[in-house]
Amino acid sequence: MGSELAAILEAHAMIASDETLLAAILERMRRDRVNPEWALAAVAGEFEQKLAASDSAAVRERAADISHVAREIARHLSGGGGSLPRELPRGSILVADELSPVDAARLDPRRVRALALERGGPTSHASIIARSFGLPAVVGIPSLCEAVSPERPIIVDGERGVVDTGPSKERLRKALLRVRESRERNRRLRARTAGAASTKDGARVVVRANLELPEEIGALERCHAEGIGLFRSEFLYLKAAPASPSVEEQREAYERLLEAAAPHPVTVRTYDLGGEKGIGPAPGENPALGLRGLRYCLAHPDIFDAQLTALCLASRRGDLRILLPMVTTLSELRTARQRLNAAARAVALEKPPQLGVMIEVPSAALLAERLAPEVEFFSIGTNDLAQYSLAVDRANPDVAALYRPLHPAILRMIKFVIEAGVSLQKPVAVCGELASDPVGIGVLIGLGIREVSVTPVAIAGVKDNLSAVDSGRAGILAGKALDAADAVEVEKLFRTLS
Ligand code: PEP
Ligand code: MG
Repeated sequence: MGSELAAILEAHAMIASDETLLAAILERMRRDRVNPEWALAAVAGEFEQKLAASDSAAVRERAADISHVAREIARHLSGGGGSLPRELPRGSILVADELSPVDAARLDPRRVRALALERGGPTSHASIIARSFGLPAVVGIPSLCEAVSPERPIIVDGERGVVDTGPSKERLRKALLRVRESRERNRRLRARTAGAASTKDGARVVVRANLELPEEIGALERCHAEGIGLFRSEFLYLKAAPASPSVEEQREAYERLLEAAAPHPVTVRTYDLGGEKGIGPAPGENPALGLRGLRYCLAHPDIFDAQLTALCLASRRGDLRILLPMVTTLSELRTARQRLNAAARAVALEKPPQLGVMIEVPSAALLAERLAPEVEFFSIGTNDLAQYSLAVDRANPDVAALYRPLHPAILRMIKFVIEAGVSLQKPVAVCGELASDPVGIGVLIGLGIREVSVTPVAIAGVKDNLSAVDSGRAGILAGKALDAADAVEVEKLFRTLS
């Protein structure tokens, strides 16, 4: 490797086995009862700060070394800890058993052309990220990794949901032709749907964008979104892991979003960490039912407060709204509200940003009437609402057929939430994937939804579908759908809509 690199690696190896560092990490785990990744990040951060303050340039350089070593160890420690090769060759098709949210956050869409995974479902986060980047993706294909080899071309057909692992020359040629045709169709559709959306009978519907990373900002204008209805801020965090993004870094990111979305609003969801999005649940834990979303933030007030401070600072630059994920009780909302007010006071902000709650757990849906007086808006997360109501893991291909957001039980909950919001004039939006489903959007309009937020690439299609929906007729069908036997019956009912 050459003596220079060898010397660096030798230094890294010494850091990795340094008794003082290791003892401090162990001590932190014992004292604070935190997991190794957490203790490592905290202790390495302190060491780094001390070294970075040194007068000697040589010592200051050691700070960067500690940071590299800490990242590398954390990568190995955390279950989904960034196992992708750093530089994928351009034009790669990524085939894997599964893709952790950390890896998904680090995907470089300029290098990856498509994604095919053995595990995952249509609303698992790898799929959501792939859609955001406009990458074709097919998930839930057993034994896929055995069937491919790096030297052979494969076709990932995201529209049909199939992967061809041994295509003939003729099939490759046809696939490339379809790619070209589909690009042209999408371009025409985007031009046709550039204006504000409304239904066939003229009911105005606001269509905003779901974004995961500030790098996707360009998509806002390309897709003619009316602002950002859901910014999944945890991907900022996952990208920076194991360090946390600083208040300043966060503020910059939120300000960039506000600038790009102006004059429209930006709704930032506070970190939805834990759950399917890591950060490393212990073996045997059920992450979806664990310390996730707002629970995680309330258990780690330092992380939450830093985010609230950054949000308050950024809110001076535009219409910024804050959305809380995984709320299950009124007291969680009240505690979050207190922390937000305190953060606003600390930075001398007169009026804290608007605060809304995601309705994505049945208990929150059933409590909508109690929550409504204490929030400025609701946003229904149908991805999790379906997972938690139907007891179906959204990322498990074995139960993918049971994952039915159009299930009448879920429609009843959505209706209940809309009524609770309407009675107090609190807006109710839908930000789950159901809003980009061609049947789903008709059902939502029928139930009374007039604001949705979807992945940017879906916006043109959603507007197009909306223009074929008669809201009056959708309302009548939605009434019947509430009494349907199952999701299949709901779909059948709504197929007669347009
Ligand atoms: C949802 O649960 O519907 C949602 C929008 O949030 P996420 O997909 O990030 O869990
Ligand atoms: Mg959710």
